[in-house]
Amino acid sequence: MSAAAPQLARQDGLLARDSGLLWHPYASLDAGAHYAVTGADGVRLMLADESGTHEVIDGMASWWSMVHGYRNPVLDAAAHAQIDRFSHVMFGGLTHAPAVQLAERLVAMAPGELAHVFLADSGSISVEVALKLALQYQHARGHDTRRRFAALRGGYHGDTFAAMGVCDPVDGMHAAFAQPGREQVFLPRPPAARLTTEGQWESDAAELAEWEVAARKIAAAYMDELAGIICEPILQGAGGMFTYAPKALRILREIADEHDLLLIFDEIATGFGRTGALFASEWAQVAPDVMCVGKALTGGYLSLAAMLCTPKVARALGGPGPGSALLHGPTFMGNPLACAVANASLELLTGSADPRSASAPWRGQVSALEAALREALAPARVLSCVKEVRVLGGVGVIQLHDPVRVAEVTKAAVRRGAWVRPFRDLLYVMPPYVCTPGDLQVLGDALVLAVAEIHGN
Ligand SMILES: *Cc1c(COP(=O)(O)O)cnc(C)c1O
Repeated sequence: MSAAAPQLARQDGLLARDSGLLWHPYASLDAGAHYAVTGADGVRLMLADESGTHEVIDGMASWWSMVHGYRNPVLDAAAHAQIDRFSHVMFGGLTHAPAVQLAERLVAMAPGELAHVFLADSGSISVEVALKLALQYQHARGHDTRRRFAALRGGYHGDTFAAMGVCDPVDGMHAAFAQPGREQVFLPRPPAARLTTEGQWESDAAELAEWEVAARKIAAAYMDELAGIICEPILQGAGGMFTYAPKALRILREIADEHDLLLIFDEIATGFGRTGALFASEWAQVAPDVMCVGKALTGGYLSLAAMLCTPKVARALGGPGPGSALLHGPTFMGNPLACAVANASLELLTGSADPRSASAPWRGQVSALEAALREALAPARVLSCVKEVRVLGGVGVIQLHDPVRVAEVTKAAVRRGAWVRPFRDLLYVMPPYVCTPGDLQVLGDALVLAVAEIHGN
């Protein structure tokens, strides 16, 4: 990374030019960006602001996605090789090796009987497609009244309209867009659960029993209107970095089977090993009818997501004649460049091993992350501003008693070499899988010291 970077960022006035011109996620037009990225390599970002440059470890892995690090030579080579062939071609009536290989790979990795793949251009779109598929499934079975979905409180499934509709209606970021009369059905959030260091899930049995009664009651009351149940298995991400009991997923599976609802698992954040299982649903040994993946799919290089479903679902639509087509088809569907990088990324994750075997590379990486995060975040436990510290796989969370003073904590962490993006009362990391124990120590120290500095100890 060149020494000229700070001057460049300053000379070009990127931050000033950005302000008022570009929107950033969930931000006002003039308050979006605080640093310019002038380079990225491995697990590090080079940031620049008025005060100079900052080399930081990316604790966010660019929002769950950049699992193999920036400028990864294998992914770079895959992208270059595909650019030299063709970067894009329409998917209507045409196919290509990167898409076919990727679908084969996903099916081979996926839990249960998932066997058919729709390649979408973002996570939210894959959720839209999953919801449309469920409506078409119910229609094909003659259940035309089944047009709604049951979702969990505290869930997050994306920013497009239908995906927003199944996000938590109160806590979510979407209250401004409520569509009266089109509300979905919400099940209470299952009780919290923690994975002990012995690998056992602990949760309150009485709370779980109570939750089960409530969930079954709501599902029974609305069964004639429901097409499916959607949830993030085990770990709710943007809705609060909240882990819940695997048994809740088994109960949802039973409810879905009982009422002929499709069970849709949104593994966009949790997929590809992040929670310590290849897919989070595997903690419960429950397989869905429909699954969405995204975020880490291309190792963070390009926007790509996928929806997978079982033969039962596909067959219901199937057969010749009208009504058998899945009614979605984005312009950049199956983008060859994204598929080629995704293939390379999945190969890095699984190596030549069985993707679930102990020798699959992701497993060693994520268990090393988990061990190092447990150790590096532990000192936060003694801070009086800290309510809880929890770690699951490659996800570490420090929850405060009060809302995080985001701007100040972010700055304090950057000064200590870590990039984080707290929200609400949560300071959390899901670092690239290729972080070394030393990187994670830097990250953990930066977080703990930033919290102590800003929120007091
Ligand atoms: C990020 C996310 C989405 C939305 O994916 P985009 O690619 O941002 O559209 C959906 N569901 C979950 C669980 C997510 O974490």
